[in-house]
Amino acid sequence: MRSLRKPTFERKTPDQLKLMRRAGLVVDEVLRTLAAEVRPGISTRELDQIGREILAARGASSNFLGYGADWGIQPFPGVACISVNEEVVHGIPGDRVLAEGDIVSCDFGAVIEGWHGDAARTFLVGEVSDEVRELSRVGEEAMWAGIGATRVGARIGDISAAVEASTSSHRRRYGIIRDFTGHGIGSEMHMYPDVPNHGRGGRGPVLNEGHAIAIEPMVTLGSGDVAELEDDWTIVTRDSSWAAHWENTVTPTATGVWVLTLEDGGEAELTKRGIPFGPLAD
Ligand code: MG
Repeated sequence: MRSLRKPTFERKTPDQLKLMRRAGLVVDEVLRTLAAEVRPGISTRELDQIGREILAARGASSNFLGYGADWGIQPFPGVACISVNEEVVHGIPGDRVLAEGDIVSCDFGAVIEGWHGDAARTFLVGEVSDEVRELSRVGEEAMWAGIGATRVGARIGDISAAVEASTSSHRRRYGIIRDFTGHGIGSEMHMYPDVPNHGRGGRGPVLNEGHAIAIEPMVTLGSGDVAELEDDWTIVTRDSSWAAHWENTVTPTATGVWVLTLEDGGEAELTKRGIPFGPLAD
């Protein structure tokens, strides 16, 4: 029977956050490696294989591989979600070969000693159009707007509102996917609460030290309406417009925000934006 217990926002100890940090560093290593490997002619399966090798080398496991096994659908067969062009998220690695001008988002997760990291980056394949380059930048900037709203005492709605405001701040209109959201993360990958990419500030759970969330805007060149392919996983835009997806796992600390899935903890990008960088001491 379904529990009627109110979902709780998991509070991590500093030591648990440091395990999440270790998982986050593996995620970052994989995504940086994929960034260097993405080029016309490489298949999405080859990118997935790179993720498998780095996980094995670092003694980490995958939180994506086998996901959904309890749902009566095909369990996710890769360690990375690789979504090309009109694919938004949850693309299955396979035979598809990247072509010049494509945009590809790679979503990757790792687990160390039961603690999870999750991040996504969008890569440009060779030379892409200005419009597509700008799409990725808009998604990345929306993610940083959300991270910038992440602090002790803020509410989840403040993050949602910041992501939406950033996405809507451009002269061109971009679609925001509403059917998928960011999420709490820690002892599981997807936990309470949802972190939507649109909404009103001043609402939702209050952030405190020990909380961790994945902030992950998904933006498109068209509408935000999506559909699922018959493979049970791949989410595409209904209007076939191209999409970008950016994500980091972050935690608000006493001194600022700490990006667990970037090697520098987010220091460079946070500092550039005037957001307090707040790592935990070793
Ligand atoms: Mg996620």
